[in-house]
Amino acid sequence: MAVIGCGLIGSSVIRAARAAGAVGSVAVGETSPAHRAQITALGYADLVTGDMAEAVADADLVVFAVPVLAMGPAANAAAAALKPGATVTDVGSVKVSVGDALRAAVPASVYVIPGHPIAGSEQSGPAAGFAELFQGRWVILTPQVDDRTEYADAVRQLSDFWTALGAQVDIMDAAHHDLVLAVTSHLPHLIAYNIVGTAADMEEVTRAEVMKYSAGGFRDFTRIAASDPTMWRDIFLANKDAVLEILGRFTEDLQALSRSIRWGEGDKLFELFSRTRDIRQGIVAAGQDSAEPNFGRDRPASDGAPKP
Ligand code: NAP
Repeated sequence: MAVIGCGLIGSSVIRAARAAGAVGSVAVGETSPAHRAQITALGYADLVTGDMAEAVADADLVVFAVPVLAMGPAANAAAAALKPGATVTDVGSVKVSVGDALRAAVPASVYVIPGHPIAGSEQSGPAAGFAELFQGRWVILTPQVDDRTEYADAVRQLSDFWTALGAQVDIMDAAHHDLVLAVTSHLPHLIAYNIVGTAADMEEVTRAEVMKYSAGGFRDFTRIAASDPTMWRDIFLANKDAVLEILGRFTEDLQALSRSIRWGEGDKLFELFSRTRDIRQGIVAAGQDSAEPNFGRDRPASDGAPKP
């Protein structure tokens, strides 16, 4: 396996694959010299290099784990050295544009199967990764329409790989993935970035007061708003259409809420808050809330923040 970009997610893939005995040798291609030094010190890769072509040369499975707008450039840097018949996948949080970028970069002799593990945190870098990150989490694969039996075999193998790492796998259309994630992850992050920015900008609410009086709600927003700026800039730019569509819906609903507050429509507020409480209970019942028992619950990296 070759992992290109070895931060939180890339290093977790390696650790989980090692723990599950799902890989033989592991090569890492990574642009950051500091991260290369950390990965070498952690000792879980057989080859650590800044040369993407060298990293992928013998790989049967290549996992791109760089920020979404870096997927195309990283794939271009690796393309000429890819082995025919290799599976090329990624872990990016946006699927239409990343799938397009990967397919445009690599030769037709490899099988491109975009993917997205719904697991992670606001932390980044190789030291933040851990082997249990994917336990009980969903991984969404967005294969293209492809009649080749070899392609279907590659999808099955990649699905088995993620299952071995403890994840559950779903197959989905890439555009549908981007719309779903715009609601469940991208918009919540945008709201968090916005509310923390608004609070910081308000003259009467100094940063010290934000720290001092931050109760549960705001504190949770600050954690989400601490997520990696590069990663999230890329996600919003790469999933522009879906995010803007969901943001439009959200803004309309917010206007309706504001009207209910203005006109004292307590019944409408109560009805919405009851409905949303049921949704929360459904998420907990589905085991997708890390306040419930899961393998990552003692880790700061698995603390219930929406996963990108
Ligand atoms: P990360 O910790 O910042 O790791 C990304 C690594 O890739 C960094 O070491 C970065 O180096 C390196 N890199 C950047 N451009 C590169 C290039 N062109 N070639 C090779 N290496 C390159 O990020 P992450 O949290 O693991 O996220 C990686 C991907 O997973 C993103 O696409 C993200 O959307 C997706 N994802 C993240 C989460 C999450 O919760 N974090 C969850 C699911 C999916 P520099 O630091 O020097 O740039």
